Amino acid sequence: KTADLAGLPEGVPEALHAEGIEELYPPQAEAVEAGVTEGESVVASIPTASGKTMIAELAMLSSVQRGGKALYIVPLRALASEKKTEFERWEEYGVDVGVSTGNYDSDGEWLASRDVIVATSEKVDSLIRNGAPWVDDLTCVVSDEVHLVNDSHRGPTLEVTLAKLRRINPGLQVVALSATVGNADEVAEWLDASLVQSEWRPIDLKMGVHYGNAINFDDGDQREVPVGTGQKQSEALVADTLDEGGSTLVFVNSRRNAEGAAKRLAGVTSKALTDGERNDLRQLAADIRDVSDTETSEDLATVVAKGAAFHHAGLAAEHRSLVEDAFRDRLIKCVSATPTLAAGVNTPSRRVIVRDWRRYDGEFGGMKPLDALEVHQMCGRAGRPGLDPYGEAVLLAKDSETMDELFERYVDADPEPVLSKLAAEPALRTHLLATVASGFANSREGLLEFLENTLYASQTQESGRLEHVTDSVLDYLEVNGFVDREDGSITATDIGHTVSRLYLDPMSAAEIIDGLRDAEEVTPLGCYHLVCRTPDMYQLYLKSGDREEFTELFYERETELLGVAPSEFDDVAFEDWLAALKTATMLEDWATEVDEDRIAERFGVGPGDIRGKVDTAEWLLGAAEQLAGTLDLGVNVAVREAKKRVQYGVREELLDLAGVRNVGRKRARRLFEAGVESRADLREADKSVVLTALRGRRRTAESILENVGRRDPDMEEVREAELEAATFS
Ligand code: ADP
Repeated sequence: KTADLAGLPEGVPEALHAEGIEELYPPQAEAVEAGVTEGESVVASIPTASGKTMIAELAMLSSVQRGGKALYIVPLRALASEKKTEFERWEEYGVDVGVSTGNYDSDGEWLASRDVIVATSEKVDSLIRNGAPWVDDLTCVVSDEVHLVNDSHRGPTLEVTLAKLRRINPGLQVVALSATVGNADEVAEWLDASLVQSEWRPIDLKMGVHYGNAINFDDGDQREVPVGTGQKQSEALVADTLDEGGSTLVFVNSRRNAEGAAKRLAGVTSKALTDGERNDLRQLAADIRDVSDTETSEDLATVVAKGAAFHHAGLAAEHRSLVEDAFRDRLIKCVSATPTLAAGVNTPSRRVIVRDWRRYDGEFGGMKPLDALEVHQMCGRAGRPGLDPYGEAVLLAKDSETMDELFERYVDADPEPVLSKLAAEPALRTHLLATVASGFANSREGLLEFLENTLYASQTQESGRLEHVTDSVLDYLEVNGFVDREDGSITATDIGHTVSRLYLDPMSAAEIIDGLRDAEEVTPLGCYHLVCRTPDMYQLYLKSGDREEFTELFYERETELLGVAPSEFDDVAFEDWLAALKTATMLEDWATEVDEDRIAERFGVGPGDIRGKVDTAEWLLGAAEQLAGTLDLGVNVAVREAKKRVQYGVREELLDLAGVRNVGRKRARRLFEAGVESRADLREADKSVVLTALRGRRRTAESILENVGRRDPDMEEVREAELEAATFS
């Protein structure tokens, strides 16, 4: 019983009770028995939606109650504020919550006063590098979705970060939450934690494959779902769920497919709506259009009005949460999503359809089957506790061989083991420099000893591999001037420290330094291209026809690009150079005030992608500016301007105005056209001119004027009148 839980802040057990959590789920009870409320480390490997978050909350709250401080590591940046909001309900019981997002290069000093801190592993890693003093005070760290150590891009950071935190705080409680994986015991052993492993779910899950006219379930049951002529399997299944009064989540393998599927499935959902729902959906569609006037926004609003939606990482954050909320409220009947939705966001659904079980993989060079682990996580979204008798997860087969394959690969399969990806050069490049720079080791032996604390070391059979990669990475760092080696001791150079603090991949730093060192003239496009070439930027892909277009552009603007271009005959390097140019061109469009919508169309991306690239460019250019300063390269001013332009998305003449809070690129342009060209102008301008330029939005005008330090008596009057009106109404 939650009422019997000891060691929590006063009032918490009652609050849980009031939330309807009266009894612990069995895996939660096991975790409590293993001492999770008494500071013991636990690895919980249990299915999706089985209450892992509660295990984390029990650990954090009891740790705080004992005077400690807890850190919750989220797998995605998009989840950080969601988790913070979730934990904020404990503020009433004296637990302060803070979330650390934003810049990688600050030490987040203000977080020292918080009891619970939420951050991504990259952010935690950078806080450690920047010497955040409160890191020493941590008593409990939670790693959500710890199976992501398996991810070749992000896994190593999580792995090293956990190793560092445990090194800094020897008694640290580690609570690692994991999907069901093949080797949870190894993960537990690595973290010196007790293992809670369970297949228990709050609601039964039936998995099956639809083939022909029926779903064949794992328990031998069949359910007839005939597919009409001209109908797709997914359409028949969505219609069938609707007949039962349920909603469906459809997982597909790309954004384009998510949007396409939603369009088709909207034809099914629109037939099953009540008048009341139609009205609510129209309102929701209007809210969606209000967020932004892009094509994606319009497409989303169109399908939402019919009761369907799509969900992927290219959506604006507000769009994503509007869709999630309406799906949870059962207003939207069907969502087609890329797998990002399976990770983390709590959106249970009566039925889950895994439509695409293969995905394009660049490294693999073709379509590759998804891991069983991933498919199981998607399937785990099926079944809403308390609402459905059970959840159903359905895969789709066109022929009987495929059906057999799907049963073998996913329905009857155990999930894969989690394997460390640390012993790869790009990962070690970054982490070895940081380990030296932040004083965790100062010799080759010290480094190897530190690496002993990683999952990699506990998993590998291959002796010498880590040593070998370590040596080659150390050579790289030394040749590029990031570390000095003398008589067996290793220290970070000034520039090495800067690189580590800035959270750059050393290879990015080397590329940037090389590019800026011999630069004669530095233009924004040159800067964008330079940072787009680094391994820290995910470039846009070259599509068919792009090669010709960007080769032409390359010759046109060759003189602006920094560093030495590869030969056109060096296929791989040249493609890379052009992909960077394509990405840089997108940034240049942004920084010359091209409409978001047009950019999205020209480059085949969503608004979320544009934001993502802009943020990364801003960070990398900030880093470039600092590197240029540290090395006295004399180009800081040009780099800073390129950064500011991409940050605000404006041409040079608007830089001053766009920096004012609440102004932004579009308003800055309108003000400028009205003759208000700078902050100084804004302070002096005629109120009516400002108001007209801002399309009569009084409050906006007022706050903008206030932000430039102007307290216009007239405005003051308006405000008072408004206040008064508000008080009396
Ligand atoms: P997971 O993180 O394992 O995917 P969540 O922590 O999101 O799952 O939990 C799923 C849902 O179950 C949440 O809405 C949560 O409030 C609810 N829940 C968790 N524990 C209990 C419990 N003991 N009793 C009732 N509901 C619970």
